[in-house]
Amino acid sequence: MAITGDQRLLKRINRMALVRLVRSQPGLSRAELSASTGLTKSTVSLLVQELIDDGWLREDSVLVTGAIGRRPTPLRLDGRRLVLIGAELGVGYVRVVSMSLDGEILYRDDADILAGAAPEVVLKQLAEMMAEHINKLVDGGREILGIGVGVSGAVQEGTGVLVVAPNLGWRNVPVKAILEASLQLRTKREFPLFVQNDGDVAALGEVEFANGAVGDPLLFVGLGVGVGSGVVVGGRLLLGTRGFAGEVGHIQLQRNGPKCTCGRMGCAEAYFGLQAMADIRRCSISELRQKAAAEDPQTLEVLAQAGRHLGVLLHNLWTTLDPALIVLGGPSCRLGKAFLQPARDMFEELAQEARLEIPPVNEARFGELSVAVGAAALALHELLLPI
Ligand SMILES: [Zn+2]
Repeated sequence: MAITGDQRLLKRINRMALVRLVRSQPGLSRAELSASTGLTKSTVSLLVQELIDDGWLREDSVLVTGAIGRRPTPLRLDGRRLVLIGAELGVGYVRVVSMSLDGEILYRDDADILAGAAPEVVLKQLAEMMAEHINKLVDGGREILGIGVGVSGAVQEGTGVLVVAPNLGWRNVPVKAILEASLQLRTKREFPLFVQNDGDVAALGEVEFANGAVGDPLLFVGLGVGVGSGVVVGGRLLLGTRGFAGEVGHIQLQRNGPKCTCGRMGCAEAYFGLQAMADIRRCSISELRQKAAAEDPQTLEVLAQAGRHLGVLLHNLWTTLDPALIVLGGPSCRLGKAFLQPARDMFEELAQEARLEIPPVNEARFGELSVAVGAAALALHELLLPI
């Protein structure tokens, strides 16, 4: 009997449902999977065998006890063969990580990009870095499952076109198409490739590679030259009609405030974007870091003032979304307490005025790799949710 397209999709959905269950509850047996999904035991056995053969799952060692006999075989994710690649296209740098299915970082690479470099030049550099990872992994007997890319701008889902990225000065760049063509040229292979906003992928990274359950909704706020965010609700990203959801760096904190890169005045990013803070202190970003580390009083005051503005933004986002968990990430977190503590204090102060408790505010699990790891999580997320 011929397998129709519908049946293929159904099979993919069932296979990925099993993988998701084993991921969230390691050690499940075939019988438990059957009970959880409603699929027959024979279907589960067939699909599990395929997933083992394909490198998704592995059987754990079985304990044999005299009285009870052979216990059902526990199943786990197999981290040995399948690999995800995540890339970050940042402001001034590109970064690539290779990750095993169970969240271990295998390789990482960073490179600076020239300010004002054309999109084609930057994407070629990124494709070269990714191709190096791919070739090294394939030579080592690994198999590439998918590639994700996080970019600092608004992305149209599906087409992977970067609509606008004020901090890169890019508009309407077909990032997905350019990278796919460039990778095919270098590796002679095709891979599923997904492109999404950096804040969005970082939010997904917190969810997909979490140890156990995480707060839902989860709000990730990315703090760097650009300020962005990502929201995961019920296991899905909130993207908005045009992919612009979460561009919180351009929330207006004050009408006619300082000028922002987007053309408006008084955006959040103009108060506590990394470049904005350096500009206020009249120094470069690296000098700002050095001065902060040396506890220069003027710099500490700039960071405290910027942090208080961040606190106002966090309060406003919390009021809008009521997240169960807020995660802060991005390069500005390296400025440490001088920047983050005034933000927390302001957030708490505003909440206390309404006699409300704020949710937990954590720092990102993967630190400066949040976006690259998140991009790998995006590829996994897309593969695990075929519809
Ligand atoms: Zn703006």
